[in-house]
This record gives sequence, structure tokens and C-alpha cells, in this order.
Amino acid sequence: MSPDPELDEQRPERLSDELYMGFALAEARRAFDRDEVPIGAVIVLDGRVLARGHNLTRWRRDPLAHAELRALSRATRATGDLRLPGAVVYTTVEPCFMCAGAMVHARIARVVWAVRDEKFGGGASLGQVLQVAGANHQVDYSEGVRAAEARALLQEFFQSKRMAARQSRIRSGPGADMAKDSVEESGQA
Ligand code: ZN
Repeated sequence: MSPDPELDEQRPERLSDELYMGFALAEARRAFDRDEVPIGAVIVLDGRVLARGHNLTRWRRDPLAHAELRALSRATRATGDLRLPGAVVYTTVEPCFMCAGAMVHARIARVVWAVRDEKFGGGASLGQVLQVAGANHQVDYSEGVRAAEARALLQEFFQSKRMAARQSRIRSGPGADMAKDSVEESGQA
């Protein structure tokens, strides 16, 4: 990342980063529509969107069904190759330890995310999985691209969950706390 934010704004890839993040945001909206934590990802290779994915952990009851892993699997199926050198991952939320690790395995060149995940983030918040010293591959990263939109979508989702939990308590009387767990989660897991 450039140390000078103004220089960073002028980088031509900043414009395309915003464009591709738009596709990841559309995937996040698809997760939202399926009552999943709204996180989406796309993988771009040579300027082309190779694969898309959105979070489906609850629907699939699968802790591996993160947006980034789903997109990575589709991308390697599309290319027929285990690795994706030169590829860029756009994801609406900072990758967790699992997804960041998978990106290292896949030899992803760069990952761009919109907002950090303070509870699960393995790219910068809680760990530096993308750039472990001594690992045989380092993944470059940029953050903060279209952050306001990604954050608004997450807030809308968790607000609707809180509202549903409140209504459920009102209907069921004191002590009903059924939706509490789902409200408190911030990541995909
Ligand atoms: Zn993940």
C-alpha cells in the first residue's frame, strides 16, 4: 500500500478496484436475500471476473461455506488449475484465517477488502496470515474500498436480526431469547 493516501487515490487500479468491488457487493446482497450474513467475493484474473461467491454457512450448515472459499473453488474449477497466480480476490469483508490461508495456498497475488472484521479477520485485524514471514508465498492486500456500502449492508442485516429478536421476545414474553446467538455474530462462521 502507498504511504501517501493522495497518491493511492490516483493509482489507476483504484478505479478498477471500486468497479470489481461492486460485483462483490452484489454477491453480498445475494447472501442478504438468503438470510445469511451479507458477505460476497469475486475473483478477477487478467481483468475478467473468473468466479463469484457469497456466504452460505447457515443455509448449508457448513463452516467452510465462506464467500471467498466458494469463489476460490469455482475459480480453480474454471481454470482447471490448483493455483491462481496473478489473480485478485475482492471481498466485502476482511478474510478470516481460513480464507486468508486458502489464498496463500492458491498463490493469489492480491486481496482487496471493503471493511475489517475485528472478530475474525486474519488478514490484518487479528493476524497477518497473508504475509507470514518465511511462508513460500505472500499475498498483497488493500483495504477500505467501498467500505461505506459494505458496512451499511452489514448494519442493515444485523439491525433486522435485532428487530426480529425483539419481536420474538415480545411475542413469547420475558426470557425468550431465541435469536440472540445469530445477532451477536459478526463474521460468516
Ligand atoms: Zn473466511
